[in-house]
Amino acid sequence: MSDQTKEIEFAKSPSRRTFLGAGSAALATAAFVGLTANAQQREDTRKAEHDHSSSNPGQENKPLLDENPSSNVPPPTDHGDIGPIWYSFDLARKRVEEGGWTHQVTQRELPPSNDLAGVNMRITRGSFRELHWHTADEWAVMLDGNARVTVLNPDGTMFIDDVSKGDLWYFPAGYPHSIQGLGPGDGCEFLLVFDEGMFSEDNTFLLSAWLAHTPPEILTKNSNLSQSAIAKLPTEELYIFPADLPRSLAQDRTAIGGKGVESPLRYTFKMEAMAPTKKTPGGDIRIVDSRNFPVSKSIAASLVTLKPGGLRELHWHPNASEWQFYLAGKGRMTVFMPPEKARTMDFNANDVGYIPPVAGHYIENTGDTDLVFLEMFKADRYIDFSLNNWIRRLPPEMVTSHLNIDETTIEKIPAENQAVIAG
Ligand code: MN
Ligand code: MN
Repeated sequence: MSDQTKEIEFAKSPSRRTFLGAGSAALATAAFVGLTANAQQREDTRKAEHDHSSSNPGQENKPLLDENPSSNVPPPTDHGDIGPIWYSFDLARKRVEEGGWTHQVTQRELPPSNDLAGVNMRITRGSFRELHWHTADEWAVMLDGNARVTVLNPDGTMFIDDVSKGDLWYFPAGYPHSIQGLGPGDGCEFLLVFDEGMFSEDNTFLLSAWLAHTPPEILTKNSNLSQSAIAKLPTEELYIFPADLPRSLAQDRTAIGGKGVESPLRYTFKMEAMAPTKKTPGGDIRIVDSRNFPVSKSIAASLVTLKPGGLRELHWHPNASEWQFYLAGKGRMTVFMPPEKARTMDFNANDVGYIPPVAGHYIENTGDTDLVFLEMFKADRYIDFSLNNWIRRLPPEMVTSHLNIDETTIEKIPAENQAVIAG
């Protein structure tokens, strides 16, 4: 409720009415007082930020304040509390194994993020993320280096491919898969996004663990394994472990049965290499969802690049909350929620952002290099509403009634959803 509305509600209450009289003049006066009080409050806040009111004689975490000035001393337009919208992979403990490491930002770290969780993983050249499956769908983007991925379909066909920087893969829940680091460099690093907020990378169904917890005679009956073969099986989970580099992709494809067992579906996608979905002088956006990457049924994504000063325009998504991963640069985001709540935070590479379902937001590049980030949704489609586009599709009189701006001013507002606007 706006201060103005509050003022009117107050004016409508019986005791107030008795005092003021119920006339419309009194209501109008009350409304005017509300507007003035609001403006006055904002001015006072701005003034206070530059006088001794903002002084802080006690202790402070200087590096953290320097990194996130908007959080500690927010713009005067911020108001109220909308819960956490920021976390960083650099605060998440790394599980280091021989052959690589992993760490995760889930609902445990960022409690409002009910829909999606993220894992950042590194595997060295030749090393494996052990063969496994899990309860959530897995969306991934390669951040550095190369990997070979495999995934089995329920009909027995197999998908094998190599992925490089900027490529995606998608493995549906329950589908067994593998990831192996390749050359020519030292393996790879990637981001995994799962469509369960409470997903844990430490709770996946591992091949070695299942066999270690199955009676030997059952393994013999089921898979013809001899006693000596069973004696060689790992006795505890492998998870991430070193191995030799595989043969070429063509050799591996032939080795498993060639065309006869080839998956009819593609589980990888070249996102960075695709033409931008939208491009303006402020940057560009690449949208990948089930429309252009059909297997990606439960997770939609966009890769946004903002030039210095560029703005991911004021917008919202009608179908899901948003989970963000910042890849490069420096940015600032404000999230808007009812009633009259707004929260601003600064973001750097390796940070995670969260936006509650349908909440309004913008992201501004506040650095002097490109700001690159991912917008992720638990949805089959990427959908957004542009504030500018909405305003420009309304009859101008309707806009004037709400915002007190004239038609000439309205016509200067961009009419289309541009996604990114130059600074
Ligand atoms: Mn997985
Ligand atoms: Mn967004």
